Amino acid sequence: MRGVVMRTPGDVRVEERDDPTILHPADAVIRLAATCVCGSDLWPYRGVQDVRDQPMGHEYVGVVEEVGGEVRNVKPGDFVVGSFFASDNTCEICRDGYQSRCVRAESMNDIGTQAQRARVPLADGTLVATPGMPEPDLIPSLLAASDVLGTGWFAAVAAQAGPGRTVAVVGDGAVGLLGVLAARRLGAERIVVFSRHEDRQKLAVEYGATDIITERGDEGVARLKELDGGLGAHSVIEAVGTQESMMQAIRCARPGGHVGFVGVAHDVRIPGDELFFAEVHLLGGPAPVRRFLPELIGLIWDRTIDPGKVFDLELPLEEAPEAYRAMDERRAIKVLLTV
Ligand SMILES: [Zn+2]
Repeated sequence: MRGVVMRTPGDVRVEERDDPTILHPADAVIRLAATCVCGSDLWPYRGVQDVRDQPMGHEYVGVVEEVGGEVRNVKPGDFVVGSFFASDNTCEICRDGYQSRCVRAESMNDIGTQAQRARVPLADGTLVATPGMPEPDLIPSLLAASDVLGTGWFAAVAAQAGPGRTVAVVGDGAVGLLGVLAARRLGAERIVVFSRHEDRQKLAVEYGATDIITERGDEGVARLKELDGGLGAHSVIEAVGTQESMMQAIRCARPGGHVGFVGVAHDVRIPGDELFFAEVHLLGGPAPVRRFLPELIGLIWDRTIDPGKVFDLELPLEEAPEAYRAMDERRAIKVLLTV
């Protein structure tokens, strides 16, 4: 089969890879309907994270081709959505809603779903079947549920976005934009997005943003406080993962407020004394997307939400190198790869 491999930073290729097979009776093999490039794939692409001959990709939707002997919940022919961590969905951590940290979690990054087919471990816990074969125009939204929507949703829930609350969103990538959508669905009153890109601002407003701030860092924090009477936001979504974005998020939150942080942290150091006096709740990490999948699939299936709009470029799998370039150069918010 064809699949994407990153040889070294910046060197993305589409190569022949071994066809996946059932390695364990809990596995399934799926044929991808679509896959995509994640903002987090840009960390190794830019050399911020080590990479050597790595199959790429962790977002996926597709049709089950084959299942192992223990699999009960999905069968060949089902259209399925899964998350970037395989999880059993039965252990104590999963039952508490933190499937991304399942005691048996396996990262789909190690499998690489930017490919024609993929093995999915712990298929019964990991995969959620859709009610039927989706209309083709629903596929981008279902693919978004696999990571960016589920991650933005978790961030909004972790930040306790809800009625009467002001939500600030740090990061205008796909996750931040879908955090806006989630905050709107959760009933937030005011949603403030930090963005200096016109196309992203437009989509943020479409998804429910009420205010846009173009300043960032401490200037951005000052602008936010001007908007909300000097107190800071009740809820803050952090969707970048840098020192600046994390501190901006913490400083945007009012005392007693909540920060949901889902940008993959790279060299973030939080000063203990500032954290102590900030008096905010922090909850974040790799989003337990599996917790939200049934609800999100339902909202997509009945066309209540349209998260697929974050894909503003579509390319065939064979053009994956151009997909990475377009996202790296911020010519695209998120690139869908057709398989
Ligand atoms: Zn588990």
